[in-house]
Amino acid sequence: VWPRCLERLEAELPAEDVHTWLKPLQVDARSDGLTLFAPNAFVVDTIRERYLARIRELISHYAGLPTPVTLEVGSLKRETVVVPSATAASPARPGGADFQGNLDGHYTFENFVEGRSNQLGLAAARQVALNPGRAYNPLLLYGGTGLGKTHLMYAAGNFMRANNPGMRVLYLRSEQFFSAMMKSLQDRSMDQFKRQFQQVDALLIDDIQFFAGKNTTQEEFFHTFNALFDGKQQIILTCDRYPREVENLEPRLKSRLGWGLSVAIEPPDFETRAAILTAKASERHLGLPDDVAYLIAKRMRSNVRDLEGALNTLAARSNFTGRPITPEFAQETLRDLLRAQAQVISISNIQKTVADYYQLRMADLLSKRRTRSLARPRQMAMALSKELTEHSLPEIGDAFGGRDHTTVLHACRVIRDLVETDGKHHEDWDKLVRKLTE
Ligand code: ADP
Ligand code: MG
Repeated sequence: VWPRCLERLEAELPAEDVHTWLKPLQVDARSDGLTLFAPNAFVVDTIRERYLARIRELISHYAGLPTPVTLEVGSLKRETVVVPSATAASPARPGGADFQGNLDGHYTFENFVEGRSNQLGLAAARQVALNPGRAYNPLLLYGGTGLGKTHLMYAAGNFMRANNPGMRVLYLRSEQFFSAMMKSLQDRSMDQFKRQFQQVDALLIDDIQFFAGKNTTQEEFFHTFNALFDGKQQIILTCDRYPREVENLEPRLKSRLGWGLSVAIEPPDFETRAAILTAKASERHLGLPDDVAYLIAKRMRSNVRDLEGALNTLAARSNFTGRPITPEFAQETLRDLLRAQAQVISISNIQKTVADYYQLRMADLLSKRRTRSLARPRQMAMALSKELTEHSLPEIGDAFGGRDHTTVLHACRVIRDLVETDGKHHEDWDKLVRKLTE
């Protein structure tokens, strides 16, 4: 009944609302009714205010008989029960061990795979988790979607709690901060809203780009930030890009964010992608042969969430058909997914992107001239073509004005060395890969 209800609500409501409020609900359907579990108290409040009446109507409608629907804070799985966070209207200061603060215990440092792309972020998160309030404050992790920012944030939170029993760590998505604040404004309970943050030892706010353009929220967040900072309480934030690049974010807030440490999380390279796939598979006791992990890692470059999606698809279909996961099986099952990723990147696409990046004309990039200012970008484009497309060395040589395949091979080696040893080239490479794969 719930899936049909949700489907209906998707048609009736803005997608963002469904995604933020309704999709995260867990459902327990029994013969005597339906219980909806929400991750925390103000999700409950919001749903009660805005959607519950309609949900009740739809459930009874689809069930064909009057069906009681209850809504509460909690979760289906016993081990991850989330008790009301500091946002609940509990009069007592939530103390020590039973303060849960919305952390998802599944995401830890142990199951985070380290790679060149996330090394700095991981190290910084560990430092902060070891010395909350004293290492870097705030710690800001930024980077594209699905690269592990939330995972690292949870991991730091879980570590702090495990290491310091009784420590109060509160995790909130920015939307939740925003909603809680709006609600407090309406209820004229801003004092209580402010107070709840004084009670936490660490505050984790996810995806602060969401604050862009929301001036009251930024103002309030700014005050919260200052109060915590002065109290040496740890602040960890994530953002989907470097905060200075977020438009409509107040300058003084931006400058405050720069007080601590900001670390970029980059898209994972090939080895890291393969290692993540293998780790996720073994976590799920799924037999994933190395050659299949390599196949997927080679072809899917955008982000880790997509890798997990591919793994889910494989697992589901293998389960369903009873067939083992082989390279052929993977090719067949993921055909559309892999093709969609491969299509976007062509050699000419790479040439154009590289020319733009270095502000060169295409004709110069493809010419025979060998000045350094042309040769390096040209080698970069060749190496990217090898890394990001399925073309052979001779084919790549052809596409670069009929060059020999040994020239391409040489370019790949030169660029690999430079990327590993030279910061500027490293940065160029990462930026170009990101431009091309996102
Ligand atoms: P973001 O917050 O940057 O959008 P998430 O933290 O939600 O990304 O990560 C998306 C998924 O990818 C999560 O399931 C997370 O566990 C996984 N993931 C990302 N990076 C890694 C990593 N290095 N090791 C293990 N899992 C990862
Ligand atoms: Mg996230």
